[in-house]
Amino acid sequence: MSYIGRFAPSPTGPLHAGSLVAALASWLDARAHHGRWLVRIEDVDGPRCQPGADTAILRQLAACGLVSDGPVLWQSQRGAAYQTALEQLQAHGLAYPCACTRKAIATAQAARGQAHQRHHEWVYPGTCRPEHGGLHGQPARAWRLHVEACTRRLHWPAVQHWTDRRLGPQQQDVATDVGDFVLRRADGLWAYQLAVVVDDAAQGITHIVRGEDLTDNTARQRLLQAALGLPHPQYLHTPLVRGPDGEKLSKQHGAPALVLDTPAQALAALNTAAAVLGLPVNSTATTVAQALAHWVPAWAGSLQCRATHTR
Ligand code: GLU
Repeated sequence: MSYIGRFAPSPTGPLHAGSLVAALASWLDARAHHGRWLVRIEDVDGPRCQPGADTAILRQLAACGLVSDGPVLWQSQRGAAYQTALEQLQAHGLAYPCACTRKAIATAQAARGQAHQRHHEWVYPGTCRPEHGGLHGQPARAWRLHVEACTRRLHWPAVQHWTDRRLGPQQQDVATDVGDFVLRRADGLWAYQLAVVVDDAAQGITHIVRGEDLTDNTARQRLLQAALGLPHPQYLHTPLVRGPDGEKLSKQHGAPALVLDTPAQALAALNTAAAVLGLPVNSTATTVAQALAHWVPAWAGSLQCRATHTR
């Protein structure tokens, strides 16, 4: 099988213990499948990026023996590809411009008696859909995917089903759970959903291994892949590392950057990440390379075990 995996950090800060888990898992999965592992810097949301965090992350990964098997891709250089994808959707009537502000969306939803909020975001009520009169003379702010038009045109069931390699069967109705989601933001920046789908396809990614907090994006990304005529990768979402308060470790919540200045620090950080993944710590491994070599068959074995259990 030809396998291409990836690790796609957002350079909003250096790697922390949580992001190393996803990096290690994606690398081990690629090695266990005799595949390639690529690194992509997801700096599409420029204002949220920290200058120098990209090179810091690449240095931290290298200290842990995790080096991209091909050129590193920076999303900030991929605008033309995202524009082409948006134009493809526009040409098929699958994307439309939207003039709504957050406040307008909240007001429209309240007027419809809808209190449906998800992660503090309103489900978009479809106000600016062409069949609802479009922009109503207002200037366009964002571009959205017409979810209903996609499912109709692609003959996709409203409720999408897929299997996560760790979490098992998953399902989501994007139309009712999320609504028509943003492809290009009101501030002109490309939305994560579009960028990630375009780049996964451009890099030939067959397997996505990433943190469990991203699971909820999968249905949207699968729908966009179908709308753009792109293949669907397989998905595996890794366990999250939680801080003392039970919250997911994240840069936004001030997770400390991993200090990986010495081989011993790198080995210790990898051991901690491996434990989160349920991999055995090998006390005889004294180098990063030895530890990684020990975990590849252990990871492959744990996958086989999971496959047998879910059969
Ligand atoms: N850039 C995202 C993050 O750092 C990961 C995106 C992905 O793996 O799909 O959270």
